[in-house]
Amino acid sequence: MAVKLPIYMDNAATTRTDPRAVEAMLPYFTEKYGNAASRNHKFGWEGEDAVDLAREQAAALIGASPKEIVWTSGSTESNNLAIKGAARMYAKTPDARHGANGTTGGRGHIITVAHEHKAVLDPCKRLQSEGFDVTFLQPPADGVITRSMIAAALREDTILVTVMWANNEIGTINEIPEIGALCHERGVIFHTDATQWVGKMPTDVERDSIDLLSWSSHKMYGPKGVGALYVRRRNPRVRLEAIQDGGGHERGMRSGTLNVTGIVGFGKACELAMHSMESERERLLSLRRKLERELSSRLEVVQVNGHADRRVPHILNISFGFVEGESLLMGIKDIACSSGSACTSASLEPSYVLKSLGIGDELAHSSLRLSLGRWSTEEEVDYAVEGIVKAVNHLRTMSPLWDLHKEGIDVSKIQWQTH
Ligand SMILES: *Cc1c(COP(=O)(O)O)cnc(C)c1O
Repeated sequence: MAVKLPIYMDNAATTRTDPRAVEAMLPYFTEKYGNAASRNHKFGWEGEDAVDLAREQAAALIGASPKEIVWTSGSTESNNLAIKGAARMYAKTPDARHGANGTTGGRGHIITVAHEHKAVLDPCKRLQSEGFDVTFLQPPADGVITRSMIAAALREDTILVTVMWANNEIGTINEIPEIGALCHERGVIFHTDATQWVGKMPTDVERDSIDLLSWSSHKMYGPKGVGALYVRRRNPRVRLEAIQDGGGHERGMRSGTLNVTGIVGFGKACELAMHSMESERERLLSLRRKLERELSSRLEVVQVNGHADRRVPHILNISFGFVEGESLLMGIKDIACSSGSACTSASLEPSYVLKSLGIGDELAHSSLRLSLGRWSTEEEVDYAVEGIVKAVNHLRTMSPLWDLHKEGIDVSKIQWQTH
């Protein structure tokens, strides 16, 4: 079977919307277009019924009750609402910026990790400027955050712990149920950004002791611009200070007319994920293992980033020594994936996630994140392996450093002459 180019291996960035989700959405554009908050006519009731069904589908996927689901525009918003909403609600003292005593308020302690998504780190930094004390834990070299790391960071005044379930760059899985149990023992609110986990791996907010959980439709074959936040209603009942004021939708936590069409598609995507989770996980895992095995056996000086086994099935992050990252990307133009470099305003910065694991700038730049999805095929994996092997070998034939390495010289110990 011929492979259609370019091939898509960037499913951790976004996924194709499942045609079955699109089909479910279509009537809600032009026929059933009512506002779900219109209580006095059929159009409104149709919208509300559709949203109710989606709420059940989303809740079922994570073992929650429908009343515990708050619709948002995606994980960025869910994380903001969870983190700022909980911190401000459970703050120990009022916002010092509005009082007479300067800005150090001692408003409470928050724990997070340096390799979280920016949609967690930036809200935490915002809270820091509001007088909260934030600990940004440094991850270990394998990237896995354990219960004991959190236990060591907990303080008397800790009000919130936020740790992602699976890392979006390296795919590593943190000890979420264990951290959840610890937080519940200590009476601390626990939030997890589960964007790369939900829909791919079994999730049960009761069993896993989670108070707040963010996830996003477009990372699991639903449409873009819609997401959800799970907010625990009992044992304990978690309250949030709203960020957006308006009509009091979503029990006052998130005002704004609901994106009925998007929610219908998201709900359908949740239902589809429930049914295909087991088989899809097996399939993706075997494809990723093949990708990993072939690249590691056919190329020298290759390093898989993050823990060897504690990883979600769809993400492989791999570094190739002695190649330049930009040139590598140019050499595999028909393989859509992400690199270990992030474009900032002026330059290419090595990924802060890889750096936080202690990976050097050079190797971080020469890393690829290959992420598989529902429509990835074995032929595509084979094609990607051939393409990457060819590009890496080609770049190395032109690299003087690679020649030195092959002659047995430790390139890292060379004293370069500078002028
Ligand atoms: C994609 C992603 C986000 C952002 O989600 P949006 O729905 O695009 O706002 C947040 N966290 C993680 C881990 C992600 O992978």
